[in-house]
Amino acid sequence: MLHNDQLEKWDRENFFHPSTHLAEFARGNVPHRVITGGTGCHIEDRDGNRLLDAFAGLYCVNVGYGRPEIADAIADQARELAYYHSYVGHGTEASITLSKMILDRAPDHMSKVYFGLSGSDANETNIKLIWYYNNILGRPEKKKIISRWRGYHGSGLMTGSLTGLELFHNKFDLPLAQVIHTEAPYYFRRPDLAQTEAQFVAHCVAELEALIAREGADTIAAFIGEPVLGTGGIVPPPAGYWEAIQAVLEKHDILLVADEVVTGFGRLGTMFGSEHYGLRPDLITIAKGLTSAYAPLSGTIVSDKMWKVLEQGTDENGPIGHGWTYSAHPIGAAAGVANLKLIDDLGLVENAGSVGAYLNAAMQDALGQHANVGEVRGEGMLCAVEFVANKDSRSFFDASDKIGPQIAARLLEQDNIIARAMPQGDILGMAPPFCLTKAEVDQIVDATARAVHAVL
Ligand code: PLP
Repeated sequence: MLHNDQLEKWDRENFFHPSTHLAEFARGNVPHRVITGGTGCHIEDRDGNRLLDAFAGLYCVNVGYGRPEIADAIADQARELAYYHSYVGHGTEASITLSKMILDRAPDHMSKVYFGLSGSDANETNIKLIWYYNNILGRPEKKKIISRWRGYHGSGLMTGSLTGLELFHNKFDLPLAQVIHTEAPYYFRRPDLAQTEAQFVAHCVAELEALIAREGADTIAAFIGEPVLGTGGIVPPPAGYWEAIQAVLEKHDILLVADEVVTGFGRLGTMFGSEHYGLRPDLITIAKGLTSAYAPLSGTIVSDKMWKVLEQGTDENGPIGHGWTYSAHPIGAAAGVANLKLIDDLGLVENAGSVGAYLNAAMQDALGQHANVGEVRGEGMLCAVEFVANKDSRSFFDASDKIGPQIAARLLEQDNIIARAMPQGDILGMAPPFCLTKAEVDQIVDATARAVHAVL
C-alpha cells in the first residue's frame, strides 16, 4: 500500500479535481482526503475517520454504501460480458430489463428510455432530441430553451448554459445564445417581501409570459426545470407553481423537460418528482439514483408524443445520428437493475418520505427560531438551512464571510458529519441516503445545531 505522504504528493501534483479551488489545493489549503470504504450512511477514509454522509456523495448513493446485491450484480456482469454497444438494436438482458423497469415506474405517458452516462450528457441528449423534433415538425425557428436562474442541469457547453449559477458560467463564455433564463421559484428570496406565495407564483408566471412575449413563442422550444431546485439551494417550489407554469407552456406549445437527476427514484418520497408535483413532462432526465452511483448511468425518458415524431424523423432521414459508446453500458445497466430491485425490496422510497419528513421537522424545531436562520426548508430526503444576517429585514451575509462553508467545516471537524455548503448563498444542504434512520437524523440535527451556535 502506498504511503500517505506519497499519495498526497501525487494527488496535489497530478489530479485535476472538479469544482475545486485549484491554486488553494496545490498550496495545500484545501484538504486532501482518500476515501477507502463505506457502509450504510457512512464512509471511511484512509486516516481511520468514519463519516456520516448526509449528502449521499453528491445526492446519489441513495441506497447507501456497501450493498453486496449491487456489487455482486456488477461483478457477475463484468465476468459474463463487460461491454458490448447498444447501437442498431443490440442490447443485454440487463439493459433491456432496466428499460422495462424504468418505464414501469415512470408516468404513464412516457414511452422509451435512451441511456447515457451522466446527468449532463442526458440533458445534452434532451436538447438534441428537442431540436430534432421541431425540425421534423417543420418549425426550425423554435429552438430556444428556457431554464431558471439557480437551476442546475450539468457542466457541459449546453448543460452548463442551462445551469443558472454564476460559478458555472464565469469565464467559460456561457451561457450559449440559445439559452434564456427566467425567475427561480424561490419564495424566500422573492423580490418583494410583502408578496404572499400566491402573489409570488403570479409574479413567476408573469416573468415567464413576458420572456415568451419578448422572444416570440415561435422561437421557444422547451422549458427545463428540476421539480425541486437542488444545487441552486434545495428549494421546493411554492404551492401552485408547477400547475401555473405548465398552463403557460401548454398554451405556447413549449415542451417541458423535468430534470429528475436528483428527484428520480424516490428522493421526494415518491418514485418521481413529476408524480409529487403533478408534472406532465415531455422528457425526464434521470441519473444518480438510477444506479445509486454504483456505476455511471443516466437516461432520457421520452414521452409518446415526442417518440412518434422521432420515429417519423427516422422514416424521413434514416437512423438517428446520436449515440455514445457507453450508452446502456452492461455494467451500469446491471447496477441499475439490482439497485431498483433493492429500493423496492427495502421500501426505500417510503423511508425517504417518512424519515425525510422527520429530518425536516426536527431541523425546523432545532433551528427555526435561531436569529440567523432565515429558513429551514425541504421535501422528502432533502433539507436545507439558509442563514441570514438579519431575519426581519432578510438581509444576507457577504459571500466573503463564508458562513455556510464555516458551518459545514465545523460539522465535519467536530462531529464527522458531511453536509454541503451550497454554491450560491449561505445554505447548508442535506440529501442523505434513503436508508437513514431516525437515530441518525437526531445525530445530524444535534450536531448541526451545535455547529450553527458555534459559528453564529
Ligand atoms: N441535473 C441535475 C438536477 C443535477 O443535480 C446534476 C448533478 O448534480 C446534473 C443534472 C448533472 O449530472 P452529472 O454531474 O452526472 O453530469
